[in-house]
Amino acid sequence: ALAIDGLEVSFAGLEKPVLAIEALTIRAGERVAITGGSGSGKSTFINIVTGLERATAGRIVWSGQDIARLSETARDRWRAGHVGLVMQDFHLFPGLAAVENVLLPVRLARVADAAMVARAHELLKTVGLSRPHQRIETMSRGEMQRVAIARALLRKPGVIVADEPTASLDVEAGEAVGRLLLDMAAEAGSTLIVVSHDQRLIERLGRRITLRAGRIVADSLREEVAA
Ligand code: ATP
Ligand code: MG
Repeated sequence: ALAIDGLEVSFAGLEKPVLAIEALTIRAGERVAITGGSGSGKSTFINIVTGLERATAGRIVWSGQDIARLSETARDRWRAGHVGLVMQDFHLFPGLAAVENVLLPVRLARVADAAMVARAHELLKTVGLSRPHQRIETMSRGEMQRVAIARALLRKPGVIVADEPTASLDVEAGEAVGRLLLDMAAEAGSTLIVVSHDQRLIERLGRRITLRAGRIVADSLREEVAA
């Protein structure tokens, strides 16, 4: 579970914080869509809850551990062990084959074994890529998106976080990727947090949190509770 308390993210020179969340709880295994206009703070939210960026103030507690208080090394280790992350700009490595990109985190963590390599190939097939040895820089954005998703799912993470994972895909591929994320999360019992404008995916996720100017302006769970 994730519990956020008194979170604020500010940058020098900006009058208002780009993210300000007084309190938010996401239960373990919950599936949440984050929506909101461009610049509303969605990516910042993702970067903060995964510890990629540091908050100016507040607590970000994952299953009892406040990641805001961890050292950078400890946060990197926590993320590698718990979070499958699909970033908006993918963060893939040119010069490397698709399958090597999928395996890179486990290679760096020195936990790659034959089963992991087999799973990487399997996942690439599942996301609809038939050329595991194709180099990243020769791929389309949609293909890169799928490699990034396969990489995020490799270690069956307890938390899957994806920033607009269907944005560069056509309707059909977007459907497939959305279903894949949901299936994988269900299979591993993972918490799933997805930034998306994709109406069908948002509906499937269930809970919807809307940001505007860095604040939560709607949360379907709270509306239900209030009703
Ligand atoms: P999009 O839909 O375009 O991806 P977003 O909702 O993901 O938008 P963010 O990337 O989270 O938006 O940005 C939120 C706001 O914070 C923006 O106004 C952005 O300019 C600002 N911002 C983000 N990072 C920084 C930074 N390092 N320094 C200054 N401002 C920043
Ligand atoms: Mg963004």
